[in-house]
Amino acid sequence: MDATALEAQFQGEILSAALVAEPETPRTDGLDLPRMAARALNYLRGNPDPARGYECKFDLGPLGIPAHEPRTVPPNEYGHDPVSIGDTDCRMMLQYARMRAMAGEAMACEVEQGVRGRVLGYLCEDGMAWTNPASWSGTPIAGYWINKWASAKIMMLLANDFAATGDEADRARARKLFEGLKSLAVWDGPRAYYPGGGVPVKDGQYLTEGWAEHHSKNYPSIVEPCLEYAELCGDEEAVDFAVAMAEGFLASSQPGQDELRIDPETGAFGGHVHLHTHALIGVARLGILTGDERYLDWAEQAYDFIRHHGTDYGWYPEFIPQHTHGAETCVVGDMVALGVWLGQRHPHCFDHVARTVRNYLRLNQFFLTDDFVALFGRLHADKPREVVAAALDELRKLEGGFVSAPAPDDWVRYPDTLGATGRSANGIDMMGCCPPEGMRALWEAWRWTVQELPGGVRVNLPFHRDHPAARVTAGAPEQGWVRVEARREGDVQVRPPAWATRGEVTVQRSEQPAPVQWSGPDDAYVTCTNVKVGETLQVHWPVPVFVQRQTLTSVPGRELDLTIQWEGDEVEALDPCGQHLPIFERC
Ligand SMILES: [Zn+2]
Repeated sequence: MDATALEAQFQGEILSAALVAEPETPRTDGLDLPRMAARALNYLRGNPDPARGYECKFDLGPLGIPAHEPRTVPPNEYGHDPVSIGDTDCRMMLQYARMRAMAGEAMACEVEQGVRGRVLGYLCEDGMAWTNPASWSGTPIAGYWINKWASAKIMMLLANDFAATGDEADRARARKLFEGLKSLAVWDGPRAYYPGGGVPVKDGQYLTEGWAEHHSKNYPSIVEPCLEYAELCGDEEAVDFAVAMAEGFLASSQPGQDELRIDPETGAFGGHVHLHTHALIGVARLGILTGDERYLDWAEQAYDFIRHHGTDYGWYPEFIPQHTHGAETCVVGDMVALGVWLGQRHPHCFDHVARTVRNYLRLNQFFLTDDFVALFGRLHADKPREVVAAALDELRKLEGGFVSAPAPDDWVRYPDTLGATGRSANGIDMMGCCPPEGMRALWEAWRWTVQELPGGVRVNLPFHRDHPAARVTAGAPEQGWVRVEARREGDVQVRPPAWATRGEVTVQRSEQPAPVQWSGPDDAYVTCTNVKVGETLQVHWPVPVFVQRQTLTSVPGRELDLTIQWEGDEVEALDPCGQHLPIFERC
């Protein structure tokens, strides 16, 4: 077959490609986002400790006994796991309602209410969140600081509460947070910036100890929270402020960013990736909201830069450059959240989202798999059976979370002290920031699968989705089809993968072949007009099996050649395969 379309969509080289034989029996996809969300709720309910005021856990190392032992910052007067405060908890707080919406659960449980109470408790009289800032320093720090990150997350929570209940008290508290966040900005003409990016501030000083020295060069995550608040609470002033901050990003108003400044020509930067990607989400969203292509261009260039240091199956590096080949699920979640906005302009970005969900998130969701339990048993063979059994019981509370920093094909990133206690000693890094960001990605994929438009609906992603406007059934990845049952009258647009050979895409309306018409951004959608309620469409595309070779470049001097066997958007095998807990099947 002609591999040109594959070469345009995948990095590196395509070594061979052939079409999968036509299936005899249709098979639906096994990927089930609501089920993944239901399992994620298990983690969200298992991580916080009710006995410690629902404090959450950051320092998780599942192959150790115990799995939770705070070592990044040991327990002190501010908390048992101080790094979790104002960070892990705020990230988790936003995911409960999303995972419940996906899983079909209406009521908040006691744990969700507990975590919520905890983070709302960070708000002080000035309306802002004051916390101990160990999550920013990674070292013990005395006292309480204004935590802009936590403040912005709580502003989003309250805005969503207002949207759900109409309670004006929530809107007032969100507004106060917005005013506080805006007041901390420094103005550069019409542009705004935070000295020290997102790091905590107190009495006009910003934190620069430990990790914060580096993070003070990252862009702050402020644009997206402002847009979310503006949209849900109807406050245009927050859009104006988001524009001013985004203009500050584009003009490099924030001083001292050094290697972390994003090169406006190439999108390149060096250093910690996640805080950048988290900040970029809002810039892409602002580009869609305002129609200003400069925002989309700027965000997309950095997105592409990160993609080229990662893979096509959703593994993206924690640092560029870094010492070992490790991803960070926070980055992965952000790249999905960015991809759905960038996909509004260039829909091929939805393929990145689809591959990331299918290959990275599905396979890095943490469970006590047979292989994990067997390895755990071997590593702890010297301990009494009841100790090992009790440790495994405790680990069940973490099922449904996400491995945080896997190697390209292994849950284990740090193999030298396997089974020791501690997040970076046991082998599997499960930093608490990451599982909720993986959940955020599930939610983005779920909510953007079906997109309502004036006069119709758009199906962006090949996932099952029971949506009020359309019910989507996805074929197995090797079969290449989606079926859409219309629940509203109007036009229906369905997106086949960008690698599909266009001339061979077909559509049936109510089981009858129909002409294929392309429309939408980049003409990426097969479009049927005037679809009636109850009418079904089925779009089909031929699926290639192919072998890709690419080189991972985030570890200078230790570049890694990967050979990846694909069936459509699904990875079948990867070489070199993982040695301990491989993510894909062995080659
Ligand atoms: Zn993380």
